[in-house]
Amino acid sequence: MNRTELAAHLKDRAAQARADLVGIAAVARFDGVPADQDPRTIFPECRSVIVLGRRILRGALRGVEEGTSFGSTYGTFGYSWLEDNFLSQTTYDVTCHIETLGFEAVPLFGYPQEGMPTGRPVAPGKPAPNVILDVAYAAQAAGLGEPGVGGFFITPRFGTRQRFALILTDADLEADPVFTEHICGNCGACFKACPFGAISADRLKPAGIPGAERQTAVVDNTICARCPNGAMRANGRGSAVDRIAAACGRACTVRLEEAGKCSNRFAQPFRKRAPWAVDLFQRPLADAPATAANAAANAADSGCGRNLDTIGQGR
Ligand code: SF4
Ligand code: SF4
Repeated sequence: MNRTELAAHLKDRAAQARADLVGIAAVARFDGVPADQDPRTIFPECRSVIVLGRRILRGALRGVEEGTSFGSTYGTFGYSWLEDNFLSQTTYDVTCHIETLGFEAVPLFGYPQEGMPTGRPVAPGKPAPNVILDVAYAAQAAGLGEPGVGGFFITPRFGTRQRFALILTDADLEADPVFTEHICGNCGACFKACPFGAISADRLKPAGIPGAERQTAVVDNTICARCPNGAMRANGRGSAVDRIAAACGRACTVRLEEAGKCSNRFAQPFRKRAPWAVDLFQRPLADAPATAANAAANAADSGCGRNLDTIGQGR
């Protein structure tokens, strides 16, 4: 097989292993990233980075959206089991197949980097273990989506609803184009839906691939770590807070679906009732539903259909 046929073959194999998303980045797209985010730090002969994704079921968000079921629905099927069992199995199966073809392949979780424990470098010039790659960077490099301004990685198929894993391989595979479209419309629904102002609309930092960088808002992780509005943490993920099911993340799901930006469509809208919100002591916030409902309304009018580069422009 030539590199084009091999890439197509492995994508087909990934689909058989139940991957919902698969993209390939040439390792040269990581030129210039810090050593502790470079695939070649883990596997110096790496030529291609395969990014695999599996969807977060929209139904796994239902119990959180209703405020009646958290860990047994989203926390497992949308988060820990999805990442540690279902996606891991997909990744393992594809990696086995690549090795069967005679190429070396390194499977990696797509865990976030924040707060993960590090050891000591084993030799001069090597970064400290464990090196954890920036999975959002890799996914954009592999053509799968973009970082949204609210800090969520967004794809045109599922919006915020997916998790990723990586395979590094010495196989030379035809790469997908870097993702350069804009899905996030800088609508601001995510930061409006946060009851605690944890997303700073006026403090932006660049994220993503050089040449296709996005401005993402600074998020106060110390507030999110205490957020009782659907934010979650799972074992082994350092200090990272998963916000996809939180008030901010669900507002983004609502906005992207209303704007017709997710190709995974449903007969009924995700948001069927005014959203709930509670304070840090889990007391219902009386005015939050109206605020959040306003933020979720009028998607097409409020920005998601536009491609603005700065929060608040034109709103
Ligand atoms: S996780 Fe909670 S505190 Fe953090 S941005 Fe989202 S809604 Fe706000
Ligand atoms: S809610 Fe709007 S601004 Fe926030 S990440 Fe989603 S699309 Fe972007």
